[in-house]
Amino acid sequence: MAETLNPFENMKKQVDKVAGMMNMDENIVKILKSPMKSILVSLPINKDDGSIEVFEGFRVQYNDALGPCKGGIRFHQGVTIDEVRALAGWMTWKCAVSGLPYGGGKGGVIVDPSKLSEKELEKLARRYIYAISEEIGVEKDIPAPDVNTNPKMMGWMIDTYCRVKGTASIGVLTGKPINLGGSAGRVEATGRGVRFAAEVAAKNMGLDMNGARLIVQGFGNVGSIAARLMVKECGCKIVGASDVNGAIYDNNGLDIDKLIKLTETDGTIKNYDGGERISNEELIEKECEILVPAALENVITSKNAKNINTKLIVEGANGPTTPEADKILFEKGIWVVPDILANSGGVIVSYFEWVQNIDHYYWPEERVNNELKEKMFQNTQAVIDMAKKYNTDMRDGAYMIAMERVADGIKIRGIFP
Ligand code: GLU
Repeated sequence: MAETLNPFENMKKQVDKVAGMMNMDENIVKILKSPMKSILVSLPINKDDGSIEVFEGFRVQYNDALGPCKGGIRFHQGVTIDEVRALAGWMTWKCAVSGLPYGGGKGGVIVDPSKLSEKELEKLARRYIYAISEEIGVEKDIPAPDVNTNPKMMGWMIDTYCRVKGTASIGVLTGKPINLGGSAGRVEATGRGVRFAAEVAAKNMGLDMNGARLIVQGFGNVGSIAARLMVKECGCKIVGASDVNGAIYDNNGLDIDKLIKLTETDGTIKNYDGGERISNEELIEKECEILVPAALENVITSKNAKNINTKLIVEGANGPTTPEADKILFEKGIWVVPDILANSGGVIVSYFEWVQNIDHYYWPEERVNNELKEKMFQNTQAVIDMAKKYNTDMRDGAYMIAMERVADGIKIRGIFP
């Protein structure tokens, strides 16, 4: 089949591939490829100029065989229903491979948030959560941040949800600000998880992280924190970084502290003093030992996979590699730690947050980070062992573990009615 950039089609391709490798019951596979519920909402808001703009939003609950649906909310101009379906599916596999008692879900709003004022953004965030308030719940579906959403927005959303439902129960959203019941370590969790997964993979492949050249495509929350920890704690040398404004490259190394500082002061690394300016596409093909795609889907496709010049790819983003590219990378001997494992640190600490909210008892950051490390180490090793056993890549290994668990849940429950 020709390569497609439709993320939902690509996710189903991966499910079919692994179902075939495992001789999975076809009837169960039909369920694994069908999102349980797709909600479409229209979101009118009053703009600052007195006009009304109507945005479109989605929430997809993909599968809840293993527990309440879980997954973030993305605000981006490129959001489509099929993207949200794929992201909700990936959350299903991510929670399953992580051993969390959750199913998968995802939300999205079609909007370029940089075009809204702060007040308009707040209205849109509140209106969205209001629109899906009947569909979510602490034991039903638990949203969180994703691309272009953050703790501050979770704060507006939890306030709206509580007002509308007449409750003070805050476990319905995770990734909240710390003094509204957020967990210590949640903001850094996805990046920190990427760093732990990278460490386990590097060790298994005999790659020394100390001095390894690192490229991070997408220097947002996930990419910048993963980069900082991989440089400071593992001794990597960052030679390339990019964001929506372009990429910066220097084989002699970039200054991680300066890059991080720029994200805080300017919200972009474009004014970095030094390095060569190149495009995101060029950056991906530069020689390095570790490549972290941490932006959006479809950055490694059959078109550029053969030019990728790295040893290890750790997917901070969801869906950065197409199935066709996976095949090429595997043939080239490049290890890929797949998204559903590599970036699972975020939802793992979301789970800790949810548990803390339900218990009304809060953990110190050290405990959060230690428990995250333990889970990432165990899960990454389990995936590597599975991939080795079947002589395949880590994506297949991760899907095998995840799909088996979800399929088992479905079988044990049986089909209603
Ligand atoms: N949006 C993040 C992800 O893709 C986190 C989801 C969550 O914490 O529920 O994994």
